[in-house]
Amino acid sequence: MRQPILGYKCTLCGAEFPYQEMLTCPHCGEKGILDILYDYRAISSYFTKETLEANKDKSMWRFSPLMPLKPRDFSPFLHVGASPLYRSNRLGKELGLKELYIKDDGINPTASLKDRASGVAVAKAIELGYDTIACSSTGNAASSCAGNAARMGLKTVIFVPERAPEGKLAQLLIFGAHVVSVKGDYRATFELSRAAIDKYGWYNRNAGINPVMVEGKKTVALEIAEQLNWSVPDWVAVSVGDGCTIGGVYKGFYDLKELGFIDRIPRILGVQSTGCMPFVDAAKRGGAMEPAEENTLADSIAVGVPRNPVKALRAVLSSRGAWLAVSDEAILDAMRVLGRTEGVFGEPAGVTATAGVIEAAHSGLIKGNEAVAVISTGSGLKDVKNALRAAGRPTPCEPDLKALEKSGILDGIL
Ligand SMILES: *Cc1c(COP(=O)(O)O)cnc(C)c1O
Ligand SMILES: [Zn+2]
Repeated sequence: MRQPILGYKCTLCGAEFPYQEMLTCPHCGEKGILDILYDYRAISSYFTKETLEANKDKSMWRFSPLMPLKPRDFSPFLHVGASPLYRSNRLGKELGLKELYIKDDGINPTASLKDRASGVAVAKAIELGYDTIACSSTGNAASSCAGNAARMGLKTVIFVPERAPEGKLAQLLIFGAHVVSVKGDYRATFELSRAAIDKYGWYNRNAGINPVMVEGKKTVALEIAEQLNWSVPDWVAVSVGDGCTIGGVYKGFYDLKELGFIDRIPRILGVQSTGCMPFVDAAKRGGAMEPAEENTLADSIAVGVPRNPVKALRAVLSSRGAWLAVSDEAILDAMRVLGRTEGVFGEPAGVTATAGVIEAAHSGLIKGNEAVAVISTGSGLKDVKNALRAAGRPTPCEPDLKALEKSGILDGIL
Protein backbone atom coordinates (compact mmCIF):
# COMPACT_ATOMS: atom_id res chain seq x y z
CA MET A 1 0.00 0.00 0.00
CA ARG A 2 1.44 3.40 -0.93
CA GLN A 3 1.73 6.16 1.64
CA PRO A 4 -1.54 8.00 0.98
CA ILE A 5 -0.37 11.28 2.48
CA LEU A 6 1.65 13.73 0.41
CA GLY A 7 2.50 16.12 3.23
CA TYR A 8 1.31 19.30 4.92
CA LYS A 9 0.40 22.69 3.56
CA CYS A 10 0.31 25.78 5.78
CA THR A 11 -3.13 27.42 5.59
CA LEU A 12 -1.50 30.83 6.09
CA CYS A 13 1.67 31.06 3.94
CA GLY A 14 1.05 28.07 1.66
CA ALA A 15 4.43 26.44 2.36
CA GLU A 16 4.45 22.66 2.01
CA PHE A 17 6.20 20.19 4.28
CA PRO A 18 6.89 16.46 4.17
CA TYR A 19 4.71 14.25 6.35
CA GLN A 20 6.29 13.96 9.81
CA GLU A 21 5.41 14.67 13.42
CA MET A 22 4.70 18.41 13.52
CA LEU A 23 1.87 20.61 14.75
CA THR A 24 2.10 24.06 13.16
CA CYS A 25 4.06 25.84 10.42
CA PRO A 26 7.65 26.70 11.47
CA HIS A 27 7.49 29.96 9.46
CA CYS A 28 4.14 31.22 10.73
CA GLY A 29 4.26 29.89 14.30
CA GLU A 30 1.09 28.90 16.07
CA LYS A 31 -1.24 30.69 13.64
CA GLY A 32 0.15 28.59 10.79
CA ILE A 33 -2.36 25.77 11.05
CA LEU A 34 -1.50 22.89 8.74
CA ASP A 35 -3.70 21.09 6.28
CA ILE A 36 -3.00 17.43 5.52
CA LEU A 37 -2.68 16.70 1.79
CA TYR A 38 -3.77 13.30 0.51
CA ASP A 39 -2.80 11.41 -2.61
CA TYR A 40 -6.37 10.82 -3.75
CA ARG A 41 -5.31 8.75 -6.76
CA ALA A 42 -3.40 6.35 -4.56
CA ILE A 43 -6.29 6.16 -2.10
CA SER A 44 -8.88 5.49 -4.78
CA SER A 45 -6.97 2.37 -5.84
CA TYR A 46 -8.02 0.65 -2.60
CA PHE A 47 -10.78 2.80 -1.08
CA THR A 48 -13.97 2.85 -3.17
CA LYS A 49 -17.73 2.94 -2.69
CA GLU A 50 -17.65 -0.84 -3.11
CA THR A 51 -15.00 -1.48 -0.46
CA LEU A 52 -16.96 0.78 1.88
CA GLU A 53 -20.17 -1.07 1.22
CA ALA A 54 -18.48 -4.38 1.97
CA ASN A 55 -17.00 -3.08 5.24
CA LYS A 56 -18.94 -4.42 8.24
CA ASP A 57 -17.46 -1.81 10.60
CA LYS A 58 -20.09 0.92 10.65
CA SER A 59 -18.17 3.20 13.04
CA MET A 60 -16.13 6.16 11.84
CA TRP A 61 -13.12 3.85 11.64
CA ARG A 62 -14.53 2.59 8.34
CA PHE A 63 -13.06 5.81 6.97
CA SER A 64 -9.57 5.23 8.43
CA PRO A 65 -8.00 5.05 4.93
CA LEU A 66 -8.85 8.77 4.79
CA MET A 67 -7.17 9.51 8.12
CA PRO A 68 -3.54 10.33 8.86
CA LEU A 69 -3.07 7.02 10.67
CA LYS A 70 -1.17 3.85 9.93
CA PRO A 71 -3.40 0.86 9.17
CA ARG A 72 -4.25 -1.02 12.37
CA ASP A 73 -7.06 -2.84 14.14
CA PHE A 74 -9.43 -0.16 15.44
CA SER A 75 -11.82 -2.56 17.17
CA PRO A 76 -10.32 -1.95 20.66
CA PHE A 77 -11.16 1.77 20.43
CA LEU A 78 -14.45 3.35 21.49
CA HIS A 79 -17.12 2.90 18.84
CA VAL A 80 -17.33 6.47 17.52
CA GLY A 81 -19.63 7.73 14.80
CA ALA A 82 -22.28 5.83 12.84
CA SER A 83 -24.73 8.36 14.21
CA PRO A 84 -28.21 8.39 12.68
CA LEU A 85 -29.19 10.83 9.96
CA TYR A 86 -32.90 11.29 10.53
CA ARG A 87 -35.13 12.55 7.76
CA SER A 88 -37.24 15.13 9.55
CA ASN A 89 -40.82 14.05 10.16
CA ARG A 90 -42.16 17.38 11.31
CA LEU A 91 -39.71 20.25 11.70
CA GLY A 92 -38.95 20.42 7.97
CA LYS A 93 -42.66 20.76 7.21
CA GLU A 94 -43.10 23.42 9.89
CA LEU A 95 -40.29 25.39 8.25
CA GLY A 96 -41.58 24.84 4.71
CA LEU A 97 -38.43 22.95 3.66
CA LYS A 98 -38.56 20.23 1.04
CA GLU A 99 -36.04 18.05 2.84
CA LEU A 100 -34.51 18.41 6.28
CA TYR A 101 -32.14 15.87 7.80
CA ILE A 102 -30.86 15.83 11.36
CA LYS A 103 -27.52 14.20 12.07
CA ASP A 104 -27.64 13.33 15.77
CA ASP A 105 -24.04 13.25 16.93
CA GLY A 106 -25.15 13.39 20.54
CA ILE A 107 -25.33 9.57 20.44
CA ASN A 108 -21.53 9.24 20.37
CA PRO A 109 -19.78 7.35 23.22
CA THR A 110 -19.20 10.49 25.29
CA ALA A 111 -22.25 12.19 23.76
CA SER A 112 -20.75 14.73 21.37
CA LEU A 113 -19.19 15.06 17.92
CA LYS A 114 -15.85 15.68 19.65
CA ASP A 115 -15.38 11.91 19.91
CA ARG A 116 -14.57 11.90 16.20
CA ALA A 117 -11.51 14.07 16.84
CA SER A 118 -10.56 12.48 20.15
CA GLY A 119 -10.63 8.98 18.72
CA VAL A 120 -8.14 9.99 16.04
CA ALA A 121 -6.04 11.92 18.57
CA VAL A 122 -5.78 8.90 20.83
CA ALA A 123 -4.87 6.65 17.90
CA LYS A 124 -2.22 9.14 16.81
CA ALA A 125 -0.79 9.51 20.31
CA ILE A 126 -0.46 5.72 20.57
CA GLU A 127 1.09 5.51 17.11
CA LEU A 128 3.69 8.09 18.14
CA GLY A 129 4.44 6.38 21.46
CA TYR A 130 2.97 8.91 23.94
CA ASP A 131 1.53 7.75 27.24
CA THR A 132 -0.20 11.03 28.22
CA ILE A 133 -2.55 13.22 26.24
CA ALA A 134 -3.59 16.74 27.23
CA CYS A 135 -6.07 19.33 26.10
CA SER A 136 -7.90 22.44 27.10
CA SER A 137 -11.56 22.58 26.41
CA THR A 138 -14.85 24.20 27.23
CA GLY A 139 -16.04 20.69 28.08
CA ASN A 140 -16.81 18.25 25.29
CA ALA A 141 -13.33 17.98 23.81
CA ALA A 142 -12.13 17.27 27.32
CA SER A 143 -14.68 14.61 28.20
CA SER A 144 -14.28 12.91 24.83
CA CYS A 145 -10.50 13.00 25.13
CA ALA A 146 -10.73 11.47 28.60
CA GLY A 147 -13.18 8.76 27.53
CA ASN A 148 -11.38 7.72 24.37
CA ALA A 149 -8.03 7.75 26.18
CA ALA A 150 -9.37 5.77 29.14
CA ARG A 151 -10.51 2.98 26.84
CA MET A 152 -6.99 2.74 25.35
CA GLY A 153 -5.06 3.11 28.62
CA LEU A 154 -3.59 6.59 28.08
CA LYS A 155 -3.33 9.12 30.90
CA THR A 156 -5.12 12.45 30.41
CA VAL A 157 -4.48 15.92 31.78
CA ILE A 158 -7.44 18.18 31.14
CA PHE A 159 -7.71 21.95 31.55
CA VAL A 160 -11.25 23.30 31.78
CA PRO A 161 -12.52 26.80 32.46
CA GLU A 162 -14.39 27.24 35.75
CA ARG A 163 -17.73 27.63 34.02
CA ALA A 164 -17.80 24.12 32.46
CA PRO A 165 -21.21 22.48 33.12
CA GLU A 166 -21.30 19.78 35.80
CA GLY A 167 -22.36 16.99 33.46
CA LYS A 168 -19.16 17.39 31.50
CA LEU A 169 -17.03 17.61 34.65
CA ALA A 170 -18.66 14.45 35.94
CA GLN A 171 -17.70 12.65 32.75
CA LEU A 172 -14.07 13.74 33.10
CA LEU A 173 -13.79 12.56 36.66
CA ILE A 174 -15.49 9.25 35.92
CA PHE A 175 -13.07 8.64 33.06
CA GLY A 176 -10.20 9.10 35.52
CA ALA A 177 -8.73 12.24 34.00
CA HIS A 178 -6.44 14.60 35.92
CA VAL A 179 -8.70 17.64 35.83
CA VAL A 180 -7.45 21.21 36.27
CA SER A 181 -10.27 23.71 36.74
CA VAL A 182 -8.72 27.00 35.60
CA LYS A 183 -9.84 30.22 37.29
CA GLY A 184 -10.39 32.16 34.08
CA ASP A 185 -12.02 32.04 30.66
CA TYR A 186 -11.32 29.61 27.82
CA ARG A 187 -8.50 31.75 26.54
CA ALA A 188 -6.66 31.64 29.86
CA THR A 189 -7.35 27.91 30.04
CA PHE A 190 -5.84 27.38 26.60
CA GLU A 191 -2.72 29.39 27.46
CA LEU A 192 -2.07 27.39 30.63
CA SER A 193 -2.50 24.10 28.79
CA ARG A 194 -0.10 25.23 26.12
CA ALA A 195 2.55 26.17 28.66
CA ALA A 196 2.18 22.83 30.46
CA ILE A 197 2.20 20.79 27.25
CA ASP A 198 5.37 22.60 26.11
CA LYS A 199 7.03 21.94 29.43
CA TYR A 200 6.06 18.30 30.02
CA GLY A 201 5.91 17.01 26.44
CA TRP A 202 2.42 15.46 26.45
CA TYR A 203 0.51 14.73 23.26
CA ASN A 204 -1.43 17.89 22.37
CA ARG A 205 -5.09 17.38 21.55
CA ASN A 206 -5.86 21.09 21.32
CA ALA A 207 -8.29 21.08 18.44
CA GLY A 208 -7.47 24.48 17.15
CA ILE A 209 -3.90 23.77 16.25
CA ASN A 210 -3.49 20.02 15.83
CA PRO A 211 -4.10 19.24 12.11
CA VAL A 212 -5.18 15.69 12.93
CA MET A 213 -8.40 16.85 14.66
CA VAL A 214 -10.08 18.08 11.49
CA GLU A 215 -9.33 14.68 9.94
CA GLY A 216 -11.48 13.03 12.60
CA LYS A 217 -14.26 15.57 12.60
CA LYS A 218 -14.59 15.31 8.84
CA THR A 219 -16.08 11.83 9.24
CA VAL A 220 -19.40 13.48 10.09
CA ALA A 221 -19.52 14.79 6.51
CA LEU A 222 -18.38 11.45 5.10
CA GLU A 223 -21.23 9.75 6.95
CA ILE A 224 -23.83 12.29 5.83
CA ALA A 225 -22.83 11.80 2.18
CA GLU A 226 -22.83 8.01 2.51
CA GLN A 227 -26.17 7.99 4.33
CA LEU A 228 -27.69 10.05 1.50
CA ASN A 229 -26.27 7.58 -1.00
CA TRP A 230 -23.68 10.08 -2.25
CA SER A 231 -26.23 12.68 -3.23
CA VAL A 232 -25.40 15.66 -1.02
CA PRO A 233 -27.90 18.21 0.32
CA ASP A 234 -27.88 21.85 -0.77
CA TRP A 235 -26.90 23.02 2.71
CA VAL A 236 -25.15 21.58 5.74
CA ALA A 237 -25.52 23.61 8.93
CA VAL A 238 -23.17 23.38 11.89
CA SER A 239 -22.52 25.40 15.04
CA VAL A 240 -19.09 27.02 15.31
CA GLY A 241 -16.77 27.68 18.24
CA ASP A 242 -13.07 27.15 17.56
CA GLY A 243 -13.78 26.46 13.89
CA CYS A 244 -12.40 22.93 13.79
CA THR A 245 -15.74 21.20 13.25
CA ILE A 246 -16.81 23.37 10.34
CA GLY A 247 -13.32 22.98 8.87
CA GLY A 248 -13.79 19.22 9.19
CA VAL A 249 -17.19 19.30 7.52
CA TYR A 250 -15.64 21.06 4.55
CA LYS A 251 -12.64 18.73 4.43
CA GLY A 252 -14.88 15.65 4.41
CA PHE A 253 -16.88 16.83 1.43
CA TYR A 254 -13.69 18.03 -0.25
CA ASP A 255 -12.13 14.56 0.10
CA LEU A 256 -15.21 12.93 -1.37
CA LYS A 257 -15.27 15.31 -4.30
CA GLU A 258 -11.59 14.67 -5.02
CA LEU A 259 -12.25 10.92 -4.85
CA GLY A 260 -15.16 11.31 -7.26
CA PHE A 261 -17.73 10.01 -4.73
CA ILE A 262 -19.79 13.23 -4.94
CA ASP A 263 -20.05 15.88 -7.63
CA ARG A 264 -20.25 19.01 -5.48
CA ILE A 265 -19.64 20.37 -1.99
CA PRO A 266 -22.81 21.53 -0.20
CA ARG A 267 -23.11 25.12 0.95
CA ILE A 268 -21.98 25.28 4.56
CA LEU A 269 -23.92 27.39 7.06
CA GLY A 270 -21.78 28.36 10.07
CA VAL A 271 -23.88 29.35 13.07
CA GLN A 272 -22.76 31.19 16.22
CA SER A 273 -24.47 32.84 19.17
CA THR A 274 -24.88 36.62 19.08
CA GLY A 275 -23.19 36.54 22.52
CA CYS A 276 -19.97 35.24 20.96
CA MET A 277 -19.67 35.64 17.21
CA PRO A 278 -16.10 36.35 16.15
CA PHE A 279 -16.56 34.50 12.83
CA VAL A 280 -19.81 36.25 11.92
CA ASP A 281 -18.13 39.59 12.60
CA ALA A 282 -14.95 38.63 10.76
CA ALA A 283 -16.91 37.57 7.69
CA LYS A 284 -18.59 41.00 7.67
CA ARG A 285 -15.15 42.63 7.86
CA GLY A 286 -13.86 40.58 4.96
CA GLY A 287 -12.10 37.99 7.10
CA ALA A 288 -10.19 39.98 9.74
CA MET A 289 -10.58 38.21 13.10
CA GLU A 290 -10.86 40.13 16.36
CA PRO A 291 -11.34 38.79 19.89
CA ALA A 292 -15.02 38.61 20.87
CA GLU A 293 -16.93 38.46 24.13
CA GLU A 294 -17.75 35.01 25.50
CA ASN A 295 -21.25 35.80 26.57
CA THR A 296 -23.53 32.90 25.67
CA LEU A 297 -25.14 29.98 27.49
CA ALA A 298 -23.95 27.74 24.63
CA ASP A 299 -20.72 27.01 26.48
CA SER A 300 -19.26 24.66 23.86
CA ILE A 301 -19.12 27.47 21.29
CA ALA A 302 -18.20 30.32 23.65
CA VAL A 303 -14.80 30.80 22.05
CA GLY A 304 -13.82 34.47 21.86
CA VAL A 305 -10.46 33.81 20.21
CA PRO A 306 -10.87 30.90 17.78
CA ARG A 307 -7.70 28.94 17.12
CA ASN A 308 -8.67 27.67 13.70
CA PRO A 309 -9.96 30.73 11.86
CA VAL A 310 -8.50 30.04 8.44
CA LYS A 311 -10.08 26.65 7.89
CA ALA A 312 -13.42 27.83 9.22
CA LEU A 313 -13.58 30.96 7.07
CA ARG A 314 -12.44 28.98 4.04
CA ALA A 315 -15.15 26.35 4.60
CA VAL A 316 -17.86 28.95 4.20
CA LEU A 317 -16.14 30.92 1.46
CA SER A 318 -15.19 27.95 -0.72
CA SER A 319 -18.59 26.32 -0.38
CA ARG A 320 -20.44 29.58 -1.11
CA GLY A 321 -22.09 29.15 2.26
CA ALA A 322 -23.05 31.74 4.87
CA TRP A 323 -22.46 32.88 8.44
CA LEU A 324 -25.31 33.51 10.84
CA ALA A 325 -25.67 34.45 14.50
CA VAL A 326 -28.69 33.56 16.63
CA SER A 327 -29.65 34.82 20.07
CA ASP A 328 -29.49 32.68 23.19
CA GLU A 329 -33.32 32.82 23.29
CA ALA A 330 -33.41 31.35 19.78
CA ILE A 331 -31.02 28.62 20.95
CA LEU A 332 -33.23 27.70 23.92
CA ASP A 333 -36.21 27.76 21.57
CA ALA A 334 -34.42 25.41 19.16
CA MET A 335 -33.76 23.00 22.04
CA ARG A 336 -37.49 22.80 22.69
CA VAL A 337 -38.43 22.63 19.02
CA LEU A 338 -35.97 19.87 18.13
CA GLY A 339 -37.03 17.85 21.16
CA ARG A 340 -40.75 18.36 20.58
CA THR A 341 -40.80 17.80 16.82
CA GLU A 342 -38.11 15.15 16.30
CA GLY A 343 -37.26 13.56 19.64
CA VAL A 344 -33.67 14.78 19.47
CA PHE A 345 -32.29 16.32 22.68
CA GLY A 346 -29.33 18.60 22.02
CA GLU A 347 -27.26 20.78 24.33
CA PRO A 348 -27.36 24.53 23.59
CA ALA A 349 -24.30 24.51 21.28
CA GLY A 350 -25.64 21.30 19.79
CA VAL A 351 -28.84 22.93 18.58
CA THR A 352 -27.36 26.28 17.62
CA ALA A 353 -27.16 25.11 14.01
CA THR A 354 -30.84 24.16 14.16
CA ALA A 355 -31.64 27.65 15.44
CA GLY A 356 -29.68 28.94 12.44
CA VAL A 357 -31.65 26.79 10.01
CA ILE A 358 -34.92 27.99 11.54
CA GLU A 359 -33.81 31.58 11.08
CA ALA A 360 -32.44 30.99 7.58
CA ALA A 361 -35.69 29.32 6.49
CA HIS A 362 -37.69 32.28 7.81
CA SER A 363 -35.42 34.89 6.23
CA GLY A 364 -35.33 33.11 2.87
CA LEU A 365 -31.57 32.50 2.94
CA ILE A 366 -32.48 28.82 2.69
CA LYS A 367 -35.22 28.31 0.10
CA GLY A 368 -38.17 25.95 0.47
CA ASN A 369 -37.03 23.78 -2.44
CA GLU A 370 -33.59 23.17 -0.94
CA ALA A 371 -32.42 20.11 0.98
CA VAL A 372 -30.73 20.78 4.31
CA ALA A 373 -28.77 18.63 6.73
CA VAL A 374 -28.28 20.04 10.21
CA ILE A 375 -25.78 18.55 12.64
CA SER A 376 -26.78 18.25 16.29
CA THR A 377 -23.33 18.20 17.82
CA GLY A 378 -23.92 17.23 21.45
CA SER A 379 -26.44 15.67 23.81
CA GLY A 380 -28.71 17.78 26.00
CA LEU A 381 -28.10 15.55 29.00
CA LYS A 382 -24.68 17.16 29.36
CA ASP A 383 -26.26 20.42 30.42
CA VAL A 384 -29.49 19.74 32.27
CA LYS A 385 -29.55 23.20 33.83
CA ASN A 386 -30.00 24.92 30.50
CA ALA A 387 -32.41 22.25 29.29
CA LEU A 388 -34.69 23.00 32.24
CA ARG A 389 -34.28 26.69 31.52
CA ALA A 390 -35.55 26.01 28.01
CA ALA A 391 -38.29 23.58 28.94
CA GLY A 392 -39.63 24.80 32.30
CA ARG A 393 -40.81 22.65 35.21
CA PRO A 394 -43.31 19.77 35.44
CA THR A 395 -46.83 20.30 36.77
CA PRO A 396 -47.14 19.49 40.52
CA CYS A 397 -50.11 17.33 41.49
CA GLU A 398 -51.57 15.62 44.60
CA PRO A 399 -51.87 11.84 44.15
CA ASP A 400 -55.59 11.72 43.16
CA LEU A 401 -57.58 11.95 39.94
CA LYS A 402 -59.55 15.09 40.86
CA ALA A 403 -56.33 16.95 41.51
CA LEU A 404 -54.98 15.68 38.18
CA GLU A 405 -57.99 17.11 36.37
CA LYS A 406 -57.67 20.39 38.22
CA SER A 407 -53.94 20.67 37.55
CA GLY A 408 -54.43 21.80 33.96
CA ILE A 409 -52.02 19.22 32.54
CA LEU A 410 -54.87 17.49 30.66
CA ASP A 411 -55.87 20.64 28.76
CA GLY A 412 -55.02 20.13 25.14
CA ILE A 413 -54.62 16.34 25.47
CA LEU A 414 -58.19 15.19 25.99
C1 LIG B 1 -17.00 21.87 20.09
C2 LIG B 1 -18.42 21.94 19.79
C3 LIG B 1 -18.92 22.68 18.72
C4 LIG B 1 -18.07 23.54 17.84
O1 LIG B 1 -16.91 22.93 17.32
P1 LIG B 1 -15.61 23.82 17.07
O2 LIG B 1 -14.65 22.88 16.46
O3 LIG B 1 -15.16 24.33 18.39
O4 LIG B 1 -16.02 24.92 16.15
C5 LIG B 1 -20.27 22.67 18.52
N1 LIG B 1 -21.12 21.96 19.30
C6 LIG B 1 -20.67 21.21 20.31
C7 LIG B 1 -21.66 20.44 21.13
C8 LIG B 1 -19.32 21.18 20.60
O5 LIG B 1 -18.90 20.45 21.64
ZN1 LIG C 1 3.14 29.12 7.19
